[in-house]
Amino acid sequence: MTDLKDATRAPDWQDDVRQGVRHVRDLDCLPLSPAERAAAQAAAALHKVRAPKAYLDLIDWNDPADPIRAQVIPSLGELEEVEGELGDPIADHEFSPVPRLTHRHADRVLLFPTYQCAVYCRFCFRKESLTSIGRGYTREALEPALAYIADHPEIREVILTGGDPLSLPDKALAEIFARIEAIPHVRLLRIHTRVPVALPSRITSGLVAVLQGRLMVTVVTHFNHAREITPATEVACRIMRQAGFVLLNQSVLLKGVNDNVEVLEELCRELMYRLGVKPYYLHHGDLARGMAHRRTTIAQGQALVEALRARLSGICNPVYVLDLPEGGGKVSLGPCPIEGREGDTWRIRGQDGVVRTYREIVGE
Ligand code: SF4
Repeated sequence: MTDLKDATRAPDWQDDVRQGVRHVRDLDCLPLSPAERAAAQAAAALHKVRAPKAYLDLIDWNDPADPIRAQVIPSLGELEEVEGELGDPIADHEFSPVPRLTHRHADRVLLFPTYQCAVYCRFCFRKESLTSIGRGYTREALEPALAYIADHPEIREVILTGGDPLSLPDKALAEIFARIEAIPHVRLLRIHTRVPVALPSRITSGLVAVLQGRLMVTVVTHFNHAREITPATEVACRIMRQAGFVLLNQSVLLKGVNDNVEVLEELCRELMYRLGVKPYYLHHGDLARGMAHRRTTIAQGQALVEALRARLSGICNPVYVLDLPEGGGKVSLGPCPIEGREGDTWRIRGQDGVVRTYREIVGE
């Protein structure tokens, strides 16, 4: 195992990018069978392909069902569209009053500084925005969105999402941070990113320095499998923790990747105990096009979460949620332990499966 000191001397993150897959033609360098390569090339024409070397190095190429490979190597399943799937599964565009911003809930907005990522995840629910818009950051492009935030005093949280905001250079991040920090009613900056997972060498002391100031900063990482947790990701998360950032993780429940209680248990424990990252959400698969082969049923998800509840402490347990179509927001999918109610007496199932009663006793 590489120790943490060695990991801090890891190659420059730009080498990781340069030596990874950046174009469809780079798929030729991977140990794929001719059929897998043809499938990957066909799927990559629909949804861009990119993966840093550090992430590709985690793949066991002898295992066709490797969970890292499933997340990043394009496959034929993506070409199978099923009726009812959606190009914009949670209606980002419908709630977008100005370009590069979505305002669905009063106190927070999503801000899209770039539509480019360090890694293109095959399951991404914004993949059609990334493909059709495909634009990077410019100061001018973000101006209407920043003016909108300044004009809406009810906005307390700005969520940088993507595209992956941490794929931007420090200089661009510093500009964006300074502009948001100058808006007095904004209290919290959230950064949603796969960079600590797929390109951990990008998390440097220089990067965190440009994100330190008046704003409370929360970084929401996106680990889906314990195999993504490495000495390099430990260093990345340590740098962010030492900078004072709150670290949370959201995972997506993916068939063939993590739809297994042992896999989820290990992921949640390692996130909390090894990285200091609180498992926050476990997302049920939304209706992104070409993702039927990676979705589970809700009943399967509930059974997994119920088993996790019994195994993990509260701090290690994520909340199982679905981001509803049409901008309905995130709702918890339970499972709900309430079996029934008669007047002020509730019947509630315990972690041991036994139903007990709880009578409400409330003073005047
Ligand atoms: S990094 Fe995020 S936005 Fe980019 S492809 Fe992956 S999930 Fe989608």
